[in-house]
Amino acid sequence: MKLEGIHHITCITGDAPRNLDFYTRVLGLRLVKKTVNQDDPTVYHLFYADEQGNPGSDLTFFEYPGADPGRAGGGMVHRITFRVKNEDAITFWEKRLAAEEIYPVRAPGSLIFDDPEGLNLELAVVETQDEPLIAEHPEIPHYWAIEGFDSVRAYAYDPDKSRALLEQALDFQPRADAEWEVRGDERGSFYRYDPAPAWAARPGAGTVHHVAWATQMDEHEAWRERVAEAGAHPTPVIDRFWFRSVYFREPSGVLFELATIGPGFATDEDPEHLGEQLVLPPNFEHLRSRIEPVLTPLPNPRETWTRK
Ligand code: ZN
Repeated sequence: MKLEGIHHITCITGDAPRNLDFYTRVLGLRLVKKTVNQDDPTVYHLFYADEQGNPGSDLTFFEYPGADPGRAGGGMVHRITFRVKNEDAITFWEKRLAAEEIYPVRAPGSLIFDDPEGLNLELAVVETQDEPLIAEHPEIPHYWAIEGFDSVRAYAYDPDKSRALLEQALDFQPRADAEWEVRGDERGSFYRYDPAPAWAARPGAGTVHHVAWATQMDEHEAWRERVAEAGAHPTPVIDRFWFRSVYFREPSGVLFELATIGPGFATDEDPEHLGEQLVLPPNFEHLRSRIEPVLTPLPNPRETWTRK
């Protein structure tokens, strides 16, 4: 039984229209699901991913309109790293971001910048056999596109506190000091700690809410049991309709989720038209007339694309 790397990463935005513009128009991800936070259905839950909405590429945001900016501190993920193919891709992105008045820090094989709300992102050249997870975008050739997640970095006061849960219950493989590989049969990712900063953690806009690791469909319940036996107090299995979820906090304070690889985003939408309409899971559909008026209308990011 192996976790298949990062399934999705969920963050907070205070400004859904600007967030949508940045992740779809600038970074070229596809909006694959426009729905609401199932724990607070008055706010958006937006999912950006590759063309098919595959686990491993799926960056999601809860929108709390006007939320105060947060700041990652101890027990929070502070950087999300995506893969790109090569140094030419880094050059492409450096120029593309500069055109948006974003000036990244460039190092060999790495480009680091913040999204419009201060969420720290990295594009990294990574040697891997994993399938690239790419979205279509008229201005971004496939060979320069973002190819899915590589890793997350979190701040931890004492990484050793997490070691037993990570290595024994979750089978994270240690690769270096405070670095683990989470690799299954299909793909993998890395989890890394940095020393916690002096300032207090402040959740809010531009911060990561949780990171979800991917499980095979039939192994989800067994993973939950392993986490429970290790003393980490997982939630019951929650049916999120497009996948099933279990949540728990790992000992360094980072909120983890275990999410099933399926059923996936195309179960209730035509794959050609993912993300164009507000989609509610069946047990939320009765709330639609109350939900729709309170959500900021968002455009279909692809409606201005010239038809091929
Ligand atoms: Zn999640």
